[in-house]
Amino acid sequence: MIAGIDLGTTHSLVGIMDSGFPVLIADADGRRLTPSAVWFPECGEPVVGWPALEKKPTHPSLVVTSVKRLIGRRVAEAAVSSSGCAVEAGPDGGVRILVGSLSLSPEEISALILSKLKADLEMSCGVSVDRAVITVPAYFNDAQRSATKRAGELAGFTVERILSEPTAAALAYGLDRLGERARVAVYDLGGGTFDISVLELNCGVFEVLSTNGDTSLGGDDLDAALAKAWGVARFDAEKIKRALTDSDSVEFDHHSYLRSDLDAACLPIIEKTRRHCLRSLSDAHLETSALDAVVLVGGATRMPIVRRFVAEIFGREPDVSQHPDEAVALGATIQAGILEGGLQNLTLLDVTPLSLGIETFGGLMNVIIPRNTTIPCKAGEMFTNAVANQSAMSISVLQGEREMARDNWPLGRMDVPFPPSPKGQARVGVQFELDANGILHVLARDTASGRDTVIDIHSAVEVSDEAVEKMLGDSLEYAFEDMDERIFTEAKLKADEMLPAVDSALNALGEKVPVEIRSAISGLVQKIRSALEARSTSDLKTLLGELDTLTEPLATALLEQTLA
Ligand code: AMP
Repeated sequence: MIAGIDLGTTHSLVGIMDSGFPVLIADADGRRLTPSAVWFPECGEPVVGWPALEKKPTHPSLVVTSVKRLIGRRVAEAAVSSSGCAVEAGPDGGVRILVGSLSLSPEEISALILSKLKADLEMSCGVSVDRAVITVPAYFNDAQRSATKRAGELAGFTVERILSEPTAAALAYGLDRLGERARVAVYDLGGGTFDISVLELNCGVFEVLSTNGDTSLGGDDLDAALAKAWGVARFDAEKIKRALTDSDSVEFDHHSYLRSDLDAACLPIIEKTRRHCLRSLSDAHLETSALDAVVLVGGATRMPIVRRFVAEIFGREPDVSQHPDEAVALGATIQAGILEGGLQNLTLLDVTPLSLGIETFGGLMNVIIPRNTTIPCKAGEMFTNAVANQSAMSISVLQGEREMARDNWPLGRMDVPFPPSPKGQARVGVQFELDANGILHVLARDTASGRDTVIDIHSAVEVSDEAVEKMLGDSLEYAFEDMDERIFTEAKLKADEMLPAVDSALNALGEKVPVEIRSAISGLVQKIRSALEARSTSDLKTLLGELDTLTEPLATALLEQTLA
């Protein structure tokens, strides 16, 4: 596997191809953006990301941020001063960053950020990942690119490719499918930098025709202008700015702020990007009419005024279909997938045309191998018994994209015997293996006895194109109904489990439950029964939540009673 990495000035992201799809990885707290900040505590190991950023206000000299502005630079270069770090010249004239008693190269610090991304990635996918694609701005020179590559190597990666950020963005937007000689502009307005690039697609490869920009122009400048205009702190100005992206006016601290005022204050700054755009077009010897697409990258391009401005300059609406913060990382991941070879030879025969799964509780489809997975492949899940003293599990193997089992095609059925056990105690592993010949081997194992049950299904891949089209069409047509039914079924399963449990808890506790609680519970139970009858999903979910809260003390009391 090859990781795709956006090593950004303020934030970094990492992704990986998973069964044919690029996915970005979240850290242990569920956040996909990792601040490119490193804190060097007085004792102990360096810390990367959010905790480092939090230390910046109190320990500015021990936290390094924006190290990307220094990588591959010489101390003499003017931009060095803009990072805010104390620096000195190394023996070769290269930058060394002074932090506490340490003197480190920008590569070494970048390597710490990359190591953190590597660790998050490996934690998430459970295997070690030693190869990477890393993105850099299009204007990075050889020294900056080599230094970025070295940083990757210091972090333990073999760097398969250093990819230009606009190229990555174009890949994320799927512009490689535009056809030969397509030309696209990538407008990237981040927190601290602005880049504009014009690319041309040639034989499936993007070439950067021109690139231009300003390394000290971005959302931060908008915050400063707004803070001045509104007389608020920059931190608050940023918050109000974001809120005004989604609405025309917002209330903040008993004041109301209008988007029209924001637009007036920001326009002069956004206007500064115009000459870079025009320059980039003229360097590429193109008129705006020769462009096939304009795409947006960077958090600040969410702002309506920026989108209008881009549309005006380029004479066409920009494509906003991708997440502007994630496009570069997504593109790096797609490039990694291409290098892995997984994306190159996709023909219909090599992938599962439709999802394969089994029926589970409540008649739901549980997908085990998603459609478009490259063959051969293997995947599985563990299941348990829904009913006490059940002595066999009947497994129905299904193919299709619908949420309810009955709407998919049955491929086969098998019974897996196991010793009768209380509800939820049996453990049956079900594994699907689709071999290179397109034969699906379904293996079920009762983990207690180790006994295997196997069936082979030969028709899993040979499905006519028309049938696949119909299934996909239906799954879109009925998407809302299907999803609604799945959510209702899941809520109903929860109700089926909770109502008897509440009943038996009330019985067991008897007098110990105060009368008013008992009657509140039975009122709720009544309402739940009605919601079940009326098939009202949202009521059902709310009521079950209330019942959960109301009966929480019962569970504790029961436990105490058992222990006493
Ligand atoms: P980036 O460097 O690409 O992460 O972009 C960060 C910049 O985008 C910061 O200046 C943010 O204030 C700005 N930004 C992020 N989300 C929004 C939003 N919803 N509306 C306006 N600006 C945003």
